[in-house]
Amino acid sequence: MQALLTNPALLKSQSYVNGTWVNAVSGATFPVTNPATGEVIIEVADLGAADTEQAVAAADNALKAWQDTTAKERATLLRRWNQLILDNQDDLAKLMTLEQGKPLAEAKGEVLYGASFIDWFADEARRLYGDVIPTFAKGKRVLTIKQGIGVVAAITPWNFPIAMITRKAGPALAAGCTIVIKPSDETPLCALALAELAHQAGIPAGVINVVVGKDAKAVGGVLTGSPIVRKLSFTGSTGVGKLLLTQCAQTVKRTSMELGGNAPFIVFDDADLDAAVEGAIASKYRNAGQTCVCANRILVQDGVYDAFAEKLAKRVNEFKTGNGLEQGVNIGPLINQAAVAKVEQLVSDAVSRGARAITGGQKATAAGEQFYEPTILVDVAEDMDIFSNEIFGPVAPLFRFKTEEEAVAMANNTPFGLASYFYSQNLGRIWRVAEALEYGMVGINEGIISTEVAPFGGVKESGSGREGSKYGIDEYVEIKYLCMGGL
Ligand code: ADP
Repeated sequence: MQALLTNPALLKSQSYVNGTWVNAVSGATFPVTNPATGEVIIEVADLGAADTEQAVAAADNALKAWQDTTAKERATLLRRWNQLILDNQDDLAKLMTLEQGKPLAEAKGEVLYGASFIDWFADEARRLYGDVIPTFAKGKRVLTIKQGIGVVAAITPWNFPIAMITRKAGPALAAGCTIVIKPSDETPLCALALAELAHQAGIPAGVINVVVGKDAKAVGGVLTGSPIVRKLSFTGSTGVGKLLLTQCAQTVKRTSMELGGNAPFIVFDDADLDAAVEGAIASKYRNAGQTCVCANRILVQDGVYDAFAEKLAKRVNEFKTGNGLEQGVNIGPLINQAAVAKVEQLVSDAVSRGARAITGGQKATAAGEQFYEPTILVDVAEDMDIFSNEIFGPVAPLFRFKTEEEAVAMANNTPFGLASYFYSQNLGRIWRVAEALEYGMVGINEGIISTEVAPFGGVKESGSGREGSKYGIDEYVEIKYLCMGGL
């Protein structure tokens, strides 16, 4: 495996705590497998509660000195880290495809996207301004300063093994926080490679710690239970997010929650249909449908339903499914067997209740055990399970609607509110629908919306807080009010 990498030092099997590479105190390890082949890539140290406590202590010990650095010093270190990520982008992308499965071109895209958060927050470190507020009384002055919140914990998922870490570590470090990161045990190798590059960049011991462990409950229990940890930033499923929120309540931690979505993708009669098809392709099938902003329900107006389905099918039939390291592959494997089973179950429920697969509709067994054919379902109805569940696979269910009001009501008929998309050329409709959608993000005639410059986040049960943009750093600071009297 190391032979695949130009810099074999990026393949790590130990966790990174207090600036050193460590095994679990228990000595336990677990295998990291390649979802495309089922092969073991490497055995990694399996850290538990005791190891996590050490990481929290390391982050705590490093906090004071890190808070005392100037914003410029922190920015310089972040820039070095960013540059090292860019210098090693090919290796990082290969590691990502190996452990996560996404096609290599997409993995490269994620490395750049991931690095962009470090770059962005290196700049934002220097813009953490406070205020001088017009006073309320003679002889008094009113000011605010912004201070890093303290030790931060980040729990991250497998679908973006680099970007979900940099999106949290970038602003945390910029604000003067130290961090303990628990990556998904499906994809620890990218996280560890990022730690190695942070180490090379000269980020001091204890400022970044990466704890890899199979027992998420044990590691998460320490991170959420510790009074030292002042904030949790979580990206993952809504179920786990709710659990972690409950756990964080005991110590009244600040939390940012980036949870599940159920993104509507609405195509109105007045849409540019070709653009809508391209948007749907990008939004739906990226990462084999395994992103929380993937189009989950494609709502198409009556007048263009058949034409849209036909055009979409033509494009989907051009896809190549297979190992992401192979040239020309667009659809990689799903992350694990459970993910495949979930997609199979959602499709079979829809089909048993009258939906039809016009392309795909089953496992892509020729490619391997964990592949699912890129699929389009037509005649899908609101009462089928696929309407209300996050698919997380390459399946596009097409729902039919007649009026704008109906489309908006269908789109909002979910407890989730992360990303939404719609295609229309009518300016009045664009404003009406954009304002009516109960979502944190709206793509208008656009299927790809993620960027470091814009606020990413959801409403309702999709979470709270915003990542990226000028707002993202606010999640990692406290506003302190200073009242100066006796003047
Ligand atoms: P997904 O379905 O995308 O894997 P999860 O919410 O299960 O989403 O996982 C996201 C992250 O949360 C992963 O790092 C996972 O290990 C972690 N996780 C899962 N269960 C818990 C838990 N009980 N406590 C803490 N972390 C957890």
